[in-house]
Amino acid sequence: MRIFAEHSSSSNSPDLKVMKFGGTSVGSPENIRLVARLLAGTNEPLIVVLSAMAGTTNTLVEIAGLLEKGNPAEANVRINALEHHYKTVVSSLFETAGYREKGSEMIRNHFTYLRSFTHDLFTANEIKCVLAQGELISSALFQFHLEEKKIPSVLLQALNFMRIDREQEPDQYYIRENLDRELDNQPDCKLFITQGFICRNAYGEIDNLRRGGSDFSASLIGVAVHANEVVIWTDIDGFHDNDPRYVENTHPIAELSFDEAAELAYFGAKILHPSTILPAKVAGIPVIIKNTMNPAARGSAITDKPTGKGVKAIAAKDGITAIRIKSGRMLLAYGFMRKVFEIFELYKTPIDMITTSEISVSLTIDNLAFFPQIVEDLKHYGTVEADHDQTIICAVGEGIASESNIASELFNAISDIHVRMISYGGSQNNISVLIPSAFKKQALNALSAHFFNH
Ligand code: ADP
Ligand code: ASP
Ligand code: MG
Repeated sequence: MRIFAEHSSSSNSPDLKVMKFGGTSVGSPENIRLVARLLAGTNEPLIVVLSAMAGTTNTLVEIAGLLEKGNPAEANVRINALEHHYKTVVSSLFETAGYREKGSEMIRNHFTYLRSFTHDLFTANEIKCVLAQGELISSALFQFHLEEKKIPSVLLQALNFMRIDREQEPDQYYIRENLDRELDNQPDCKLFITQGFICRNAYGEIDNLRRGGSDFSASLIGVAVHANEVVIWTDIDGFHDNDPRYVENTHPIAELSFDEAAELAYFGAKILHPSTILPAKVAGIPVIIKNTMNPAARGSAITDKPTGKGVKAIAAKDGITAIRIKSGRMLLAYGFMRKVFEIFELYKTPIDMITTSEISVSLTIDNLAFFPQIVEDLKHYGTVEADHDQTIICAVGEGIASESNIASELFNAISDIHVRMISYGGSQNNISVLIPSAFKKQALNALSAHFFNH
């Protein structure tokens, strides 16, 4: 029986869900067992998207960095330590000698592959191959665990269907066609496991959807199969009203709109990869956030329903650089802005915030890959100044930019912090300020105290 909706149908499949489990959720043998029990209790057809075990991708980034710097000896030390970690995972996860052997062999193969990079010159593409090992290992371990527990499931290789194009954007047509074919090959299966984060690029090479990208994988898969829900299982009981890493006493938000969640994720709420919401919003698929370690907690539902007035949450995005271009020639000159924007377009560098005065324009970027070239080109149009180590603090809530008192309350709450830029009115749902990163924690706490914890 074919369990997935036909893709010609515009409605979503009545019972198919996509569930993504993050790094902590699969971060230990205990948690892997917990996730397997959670899935065994579900009757609906499911596609399960897995992250690497917590900490693994960070370690792989370090290994790749060492190899890039030509330090294979230190890279080997880290590879050995990571392999040792996985050997202990295998010996505690599996109960039977047969699966311990299967698990050990799989780990050996991945680490032999990793070590192959310590002998040769290291290329940019090989970095991506190194980073991909985390999800390949976690999904293989999980699939073996399900097999050992006699829970029927099929492991789908994301590298067979997940792809980005030349612009690094998901190739949605390719994803749908190829995932569909993979699913058609297993008409009787109700539980599919696959890897988040990893994909192929337009040249067929191994690539990824950037850090935290498993959330994005889940929403792309959800759209491709017309899922009725994408559930992001993580280590916290929902989307909180502020960043719990910097603010005590934050609270989960029961309901958010797609637009609110998209703004928060884009402006730094780490709980969701910044691109996760848009595909789900376009396809009308609710995104639910749940806590793997506390499934009874309500979590957060992100849908197209209106969610009411007021500030819902605060987020912060670090690593921002503000650039000011000052030019006497801007005075009354049309065409000036176009020339400025063209420079950022040429270097494929997105702009986050922008403000203008009669003789200058300030804007922010977070990608410094072409910063020197951008500054050189901008100098043709005026003097250029840059401030690094800035943070965008963003208050989000439906229609807050048209509620008369919210902006003044926000500025009062952070009145002792120097604000470098303000963005107001660009979106009805968002008021953003740019401040030096050193004041981020203070600003986040002040805003929580004012808006949520009177
Ligand atoms: P996963 O590995 O499951 O993808 P992440 O670490 O990527 O988990 O995201 C969950 C973490 O995001 C939380 O543990 C929390 O520290 C952080 N976080 C930042 N902002 C928020 C927020 N507004 N609500 C909830 N968690 C947040
Ligand atoms: N493992 C990847 C990372 O740590 C992807 C993810 O966890 O979402 O960035
Ligand atoms: Mg994440």
